Amino acid sequence: METKYIFVTGGVVSSLGKGIVAASLGKLLQARGYSVTIQKFDPYINIDPGTLNPYEHGECYVTDDGHEADLDLGHYERFLDVATSRANNITTGRIYQNVIRKERKGDYLGKTVQVIPHITDEIKRNVKLLGLKKQYDFVITEIGGTVGDIESLPFLESVRQLKWELGQSCLCLHLTYVPYIAAAGEVKTKPTQHSVKQLQEVGIQPDLLVLRTEHSLGSEILRKVALFCNVSPESVVQCVDVPTIYQVPLALQAQHLDEIVLKKCGITPQGMPELKPWKNFLALRDEATETVNIALVGKYVELQDAYKSIDESLLQAATYNRRKLNLVSIHSERVTADNVAELLGKMDGVVIAPGFGARGIEGKFEALRYTREHGIPTLGICLGMQCMVIEFARNILGWHDAHTTEIDPTTTHKVVDLMEEQKSISELGGSMRLGGYDCILKPGSKIANAYGADFIRERHRHRFEFNSQYREDFERAGMICAGENPDTGLVETVELPEHRWYVGVQFHPEYRSTVLHPNPLFLTFIKEAIAYGAENRD
Ligand code: GLN
Repeated sequence: METKYIFVTGGVVSSLGKGIVAASLGKLLQARGYSVTIQKFDPYINIDPGTLNPYEHGECYVTDDGHEADLDLGHYERFLDVATSRANNITTGRIYQNVIRKERKGDYLGKTVQVIPHITDEIKRNVKLLGLKKQYDFVITEIGGTVGDIESLPFLESVRQLKWELGQSCLCLHLTYVPYIAAAGEVKTKPTQHSVKQLQEVGIQPDLLVLRTEHSLGSEILRKVALFCNVSPESVVQCVDVPTIYQVPLALQAQHLDEIVLKKCGITPQGMPELKPWKNFLALRDEATETVNIALVGKYVELQDAYKSIDESLLQAATYNRRKLNLVSIHSERVTADNVAELLGKMDGVVIAPGFGARGIEGKFEALRYTREHGIPTLGICLGMQCMVIEFARNILGWHDAHTTEIDPTTTHKVVDLMEEQKSISELGGSMRLGGYDCILKPGSKIANAYGADFIRERHRHRFEFNSQYREDFERAGMICAGENPDTGLVETVELPEHRWYVGVQFHPEYRSTVLHPNPLFLTFIKEAIAYGAENRD
């Protein structure tokens, strides 16, 4: 079948959940047997979000091919179970970089290089790239930002052109907000009408409208929106707040969004989407009554999206272990020797978060000392693993100045040090050790048992590594380097065989945990936490 292109735009306000709506529609089409990929265009100038801090942009997601990407790609993978790549996340910066590179090469010789057609052509080329080999039946493209933003204009112009060029094979789904004015006791459709007008002003007539709302909207409201916005009444659906984002596909399916999309693309819908495993996950989530208490220790815990993939991985793992997840966020700057027992004493398991820089790192050491000494199941991720190594060096090996050279370059015990290939790097953008790497696991180790395998592949994002020069000292003292890169010998995981479950991983298992395939490391961590909780509480 000819690839169909669906654009998801947003209006009225940001943060309406375009990514979730795109992922949910993708899920429904996939559940009908179509192959689907989702990409995100971000209108900012950075080449990628890798240099943005979590205050600006939430978590930075990493693809297997080593692209630092928008966190919405995490949603796409968690929903669809299909790996994304560098081609699935493009920024204005990358579009301009490509065009300027071509200009310098002389590809446009004699011509004035302009937003239209050169920038828009480059945007369109990137949209169609994913449909090129007819690998996908549907390419869904989410346009970041909100209609009306100056920086979105070239993207919207490209959508306008593509709708013209592709006809029925191209749709625009516009997501807007319908606020409820409590004082008037009414919902208001005016912002939606204005937002659609803004789209129409740039030449785009949306084919479908999804209305985000806190309260269920009556059919007369949906009909009113349809009338004012030139769309057929059945093409206006609502997306009411639901307890979990994983219910959104079902909520949209109940309003036949998938069928409407197919019909608009000239396809006769047959049968129903196969959502049994998905519904099974939701049923498990609803049925769980007992709780597992997990602390996440990090310096960005006050930000909702900073550890998005870790939060979702823990939720998935808790659900498959038939537990409700009680995720307690603990700011690492707050953890001290005096309060650590109070903060962590009632936890069933503790995750030490990834991160960069010195802020809050001493609190991570305090947390780790406590969980190591008290046998609480602990998972250290990336900087979290590096902290496990440093804490062990300081308190067990007695190297009190042990540190990572990221924070103390002059320490005599550089137990975590810059990787050799990083030493000559001067540019910070896109230059970390990024993406999927193979890892061999020591048979019988906790980590090999967790994965049920002795060969795995997980994604990385770091510059520093366990300093292999000290490997023997650590192993003699009881910290085992159970995972290793087969090509370079880099230590990828550490663990304490004497502890009930204390595992650190240099990679990010959270980037490869999906609703239907939760990551085995999180599943085992939660299982251990539940067992620990059962033994230690009445
Ligand atoms: N800052 C550490 C490094 O670069 C850890 C990075 C991380 O936790 N993602 O090695």
